[in-house]
Amino acid sequence: MKCIDEAKINSLLKIAVTQAEIDQILEKTKQLKRLSLEESAKLLSVTDKKTLDKIYDAASYVKNTVYGKRVVLFIPLYVSNICSNTCLYCGFAANNKLTVRKHLSPKEIKEQTEILLKRGHKRILMVAGEPASKNNVDYYVDAVKAIYEAEYKGGKIKRVNVNAAPLSIEDFKKLKDAGIGTYQLFQETYHDATYRKLHVSGAKADPDNRLDAIDRAFAAGIDDVGIGPLLGLYDHRFEILASLMHVEYLEKKHGVGPHTISVPRIEPAPGSQYASNPEYPLTDEEFKKLVAVLRLSVPYTGIIMSTRESAEMRDTLVNLGVSQISAESKVTPGGYEESDEHNKHLDRQFSLSDMRSLEEIAQSLLSQGFIPSFCAACYRKNRTGEHFMDLAKPGEIKYMCDINALITLKEYLEDFAKPEVKEKGYALIEEYKKNLDENSLKLLEKFFKNIDNGVRDEYV
Ligand code: SAM
Ligand code: SF4
Repeated sequence: MKCIDEAKINSLLKIAVTQAEIDQILEKTKQLKRLSLEESAKLLSVTDKKTLDKIYDAASYVKNTVYGKRVVLFIPLYVSNICSNTCLYCGFAANNKLTVRKHLSPKEIKEQTEILLKRGHKRILMVAGEPASKNNVDYYVDAVKAIYEAEYKGGKIKRVNVNAAPLSIEDFKKLKDAGIGTYQLFQETYHDATYRKLHVSGAKADPDNRLDAIDRAFAAGIDDVGIGPLLGLYDHRFEILASLMHVEYLEKKHGVGPHTISVPRIEPAPGSQYASNPEYPLTDEEFKKLVAVLRLSVPYTGIIMSTRESAEMRDTLVNLGVSQISAESKVTPGGYEESDEHNKHLDRQFSLSDMRSLEEIAQSLLSQGFIPSFCAACYRKNRTGEHFMDLAKPGEIKYMCDINALITLKEYLEDFAKPEVKEKGYALIEEYKKNLDENSLKLLEKFFKNIDNGVRDEYV
């Protein structure tokens, strides 16, 4: 695969490291500087508990300094499980027999979105399989439109990110014009031979076409992209270094790296023997370490964790680096239909672990001192790509982000939360107010007063 130098990664994986070197690298991370691949490889090689704890402390420091206590919440919306690819780990693979294969219609997508709006969601990740049709983009564009059109008591979805098959530059332009936030595409594995072994047929069988898709997205003007390896397909240390190599390549070529890196771990999937017995399963400790190393290696790149992980793991990792989490996900088209009878007959793409409701997750975050955030201000103010990084790097964005996150939290508390969550939320807001300077506090109070008077969806 272009831009992935496997020989270099393999030699980095054999690199020897001393305790003094680790301490030096961890010292450097306090300046919130990017790490070199060699430095990341050295951190990944650590196995002793005492040094791992030092890595976790450093990751926690970087997370706190760059992101404060905000955790962005989103929900995936599966619009289609029709797929022409045979990815051996996926429940939607073309050769897999499903009870129902379907594209949701724009009307159904709107209805699903209304259900999510009713629960307080503001950010959606639209997800789809890859049909053989040439008109995929027209379907995606209509689907994004339907999501933005949905409304509940005047509330609307603020940002639609998309995780769907690669497109041509022309088609990516159409997707951008539909008003998407991040375009997300997981390379699955950066190890060429493993990729070819696991992607047996369909357009996705070509690893270079997939890797190149992120460049095509940039060429189409989408400067907000998300990448990620599907962990468990190959050696996780290789995948992390390769992901970082991909970041370096994108930075060099496009002036900005990915906005986010996702860290999906493979889960059992109906109809897939491979998914239940992946070749490179990783332990929870290895998983924790790789998230911490990612946080230290690319301090300004968001890290996304889904409900594939358990509530305990997610609660731990929001402290070590994760900045965005999904909530109450269903991984099947039509999965948010409120009737259990309907849901019983749907085939899932894979198994999930954290089944808590949005409210339970918000409550747990608040208990740990985190601000559940539904903010989409950067996207709406065009603070994306290079412009976002320019603001984020000197720490300027933190001030804006705290205010925006607190505005979205208050709106959530007022419109959706039950009394005990509301009480917890307001207690946390009071704590936060103590840290704000006079001007920020004045600004926040102005917005809060507007919310009390019924105004919604303001941001700086
Ligand atoms: N079909 C498009 C594609 O493959 O790029 C986009 C959507 S696909 C439904 C989203 C992601 O699900 C894939 O990129 C893959 O990483 C992940 N996935 C597939 N099977 C999985 C499994 N068994 N466990 C965890 N994640 C899985
Ligand atoms: Fe289709 Fe995506 Fe599943 Fe592969 S991972 S089978 S492309 S839905």
